[in-house]
Amino acid sequence: PLILGIESSCDETGVGLVRGTQLLTNTVSSSMDEHVRFGGVIPEIASRAHLDAFVPTLAQALADAGVTLGDVDAIAVTSGPGLAGALMVGVSAAKALALATGKPLYAINHLVAHVGVGLLDESIAAQTVALDATAGALPPNLGALLVSGGHTEILRVRSIASDVELLGATIDDAAGEAFDKVARILGLGYPGGPAIDALAREGNAKAIRFPRGLTAPKYMGTTEAPGPHRYDFSFSGLKTAVARSVESYEARGEEIPVADVAASFQEAVLDVITAKAVLACKEQGMTTLLLGGGVAANSRLRELASQRASTAGITLLVPKLSLCTDNGAMVAALGAQLVMNGVAPSDLAFAPDSSMPVGTISL
Ligand code: ATP
Ligand code: MG
Ligand code: FE
Repeated sequence: PLILGIESSCDETGVGLVRGTQLLTNTVSSSMDEHVRFGGVIPEIASRAHLDAFVPTLAQALADAGVTLGDVDAIAVTSGPGLAGALMVGVSAAKALALATGKPLYAINHLVAHVGVGLLDESIAAQTVALDATAGALPPNLGALLVSGGHTEILRVRSIASDVELLGATIDDAAGEAFDKVARILGLGYPGGPAIDALAREGNAKAIRFPRGLTAPKYMGTTEAPGPHRYDFSFSGLKTAVARSVESYEARGEEIPVADVAASFQEAVLDVITAKAVLACKEQGMTTLLLGGGVAANSRLRELASQRASTAGITLLVPKLSLCTDNGAMVAALGAQLVMNGVAPSDLAFAPDSSMPVGTISL
């Protein structure tokens, strides 16, 4: 089936076209430039930008793929989680298109779409062990590590169309949010992830031992008696520790070793997320781990995750960069899976859900 996917949960207006597991086009317009001077995404500006960008982005996607709206078999749209006003723009546009064309509409979960994108042919840029390249089938016993500006989660995916389970999540800041906040403390600008990634390469990751949140024995427990936050994350204490460290250099009148702070902070985040994701895989019998979300662009994360996955005998799958960050192709990819698995389309009366739980694959 030919699926049109629409994404508007944050600052990216995305329209993707997918035929089965084949990616036809992935058109993205971002309003990030308009948020930079505020140091974070401003919801009203994002919503306004989606309104401006939607029609041109749709037209571009259809033209690039050489198809018309009439050719489309179903429409899929991100219905949550995300910014309420931003979601509303994409959902309203998708409902209007569905009403005008009579095509079925699938209101899908953005987080599950970050995993579903791995089903597209040639979507995986790097993997530690060659899998049977069975197009359109995720490997069995699949785990996913989603790390973005808004989410940090470990998932178990038994079926992309019907069974996705949340194993652990951040209890405060998301990993990408921590990168952005620390970049701000260090005066590196916004978004902070790419700047810290680059600077960290010049620093010593062992210079400062920053705290590893929720890794103390009382949180981890044991295999027999798992602690209350065994697979959960916390990054707000780490962010505070970085701020205190910077203040202490200032108080002593010393120059701040910015590269060392960046490298040491980055290592603290990545040490915890890779260790916990691999632990969850080992304990839960998940033999493949898929990375998703904007932080999956981080070069050190890719390196550390592949080292630790290899050591643990876990196959690591890393989608192409353009498919890791928010986009419409991932929405179309998940929509196609729902159609091919015979899932019923959504009732057009649905409302976007800014805190849609990851276990809810579609509304
Ligand atoms: P959501 O959480 O809803 O998926 P989002 O728009 O916040 O949405 P993405 O666009 O997937 O998430 O990712 C953006 C985040 O990724 C930002 O916090 C950014 O700093 C971070 N990021 C991007 N590149 C890197 C990198 N190389 N290293 C670390 N973090 C990065
Ligand atoms: Mg974004
Ligand atoms: Fe996302």
